[in-house]
Amino acid sequence: MSATPLKREVYLLSRIDLPDSHTLSVYKANGGYQALEKVLTGGFTPAQVIQLVKDSGLRGRGGAGFSTGLKWSFMPDVAKDARPRYLAVNADESEPGTCKDRVLMEKDPHGLIEGILVACYAMRVKTAYVYVRGEYRLSYERVAAAVQEARAAGLIGQKILGTDFACDIWMHKGAGAYICGEETGLMESLEGKRGHPRPKPPFPAGSGLWKSPTTVNNVETLCNVPFVITRGAEWFKSLGTPKSPGNILIGISGHVERPGVYELPLGISARSVLEECAGGVWKGRTLKAWIPGGSSTGLLPGAKIDVAMDHDSIREAGSMLGTGAMIMLDETACTVRAMQVISRFYDHESCGQCSQCREGTQWLAQIFARLERGQGRMEDIELLSSLANGMAPAKTICALADAAAIPTHAIVKNFRAELEEHVRLGRCPLGSAHEAAELEEAHA
Ligand code: SF4
Repeated sequence: MSATPLKREVYLLSRIDLPDSHTLSVYKANGGYQALEKVLTGGFTPAQVIQLVKDSGLRGRGGAGFSTGLKWSFMPDVAKDARPRYLAVNADESEPGTCKDRVLMEKDPHGLIEGILVACYAMRVKTAYVYVRGEYRLSYERVAAAVQEARAAGLIGQKILGTDFACDIWMHKGAGAYICGEETGLMESLEGKRGHPRPKPPFPAGSGLWKSPTTVNNVETLCNVPFVITRGAEWFKSLGTPKSPGNILIGISGHVERPGVYELPLGISARSVLEECAGGVWKGRTLKAWIPGGSSTGLLPGAKIDVAMDHDSIREAGSMLGTGAMIMLDETACTVRAMQVISRFYDHESCGQCSQCREGTQWLAQIFARLERGQGRMEDIELLSSLANGMAPAKTICALADAAAIPTHAIVKNFRAELEEHVRLGRCPLGSAHEAAELEEAHA
């Protein structure tokens, strides 16, 4: 945890409570499109924009936390590469527990569009695609309407703001496959094919959409960009921690009083998010376990709730920041049951190309199910670890196998006693307590 209190300043969600916050007039009346104007008419070269974003230390908010400016700089030099180039916006928000991009798209779609336009200018891209999760109907409609408004206002298309910069933005709806949130699966899907991830290399910057240079950026990442441009790299670095600057949208769900999406500086303690924002564990119960960054990040014990929500601190605590989607489990929850649900999800979503993932996710789901039913064996615990070791790290085309293996390792490490108790008792030790709590939730 940071020694000095972190500076608190809301910017990403600063407009969302304004009436009609999704419209162009409200966006412009509240500082919108000033960043675009600044880069296009203020004498910024594309390289200078990339340098500014690099200097800010902005890291991708889609899960991997890679430097945004550095990623942009991987696009080839236009003088040496005449192929068309693309920006693909990953709005296929599907990681269980994650719901923050939806807020931005529904409430502040022009913020996303402005971020896209600045990114396209920096990377000399003329075509951007926004790939929206199929279930996010309102998000899709809001962004599509905002694109139309911006086009009608001369902010998208040819000669934007009277300059030579031209850029168009096209919308695309996903069809409900989790794997299309993986950047190469997303590109396959955008090309009209089955969303099967591609082996890397080649990386998208060299050979992405239609074998052309492509950058894939997450919604929240792009929404940060206009603020970095208008307020500067130093301002951005004044928020968060030196290695993880800026704010992050944290979606907190599960057994809390006030689930929701909260904007906080990176490095905030998880306890602050739980207690100050979400009102603590619901019904005055005790926190048993929590997931810090979506279902693919490992379950941590409740005792680790004082960890700082930044990439390095969460890694040291034994998990990952991921998408900052905290899922909280109280004392009545069964961690084996939680893993049964999580492993079933990854089994269902595996695209089946890699045997380690296709078979491994299925076996994990079966083993967690039998352990939870009380039909597991002590050897199953080692079998879980052995299967997870066969699946990850980086043994498959994409990271879905890792996403199933990482929480498996975490439960064996942090909640082994609970797994063993299921085997010893031949049933879930929480038995009727957690069934009653599940029923209570279902009727809440
Ligand atoms: Fe498909 Fe799984 Fe292989 Fe990814 S790891 S490509 S989801 S089989």
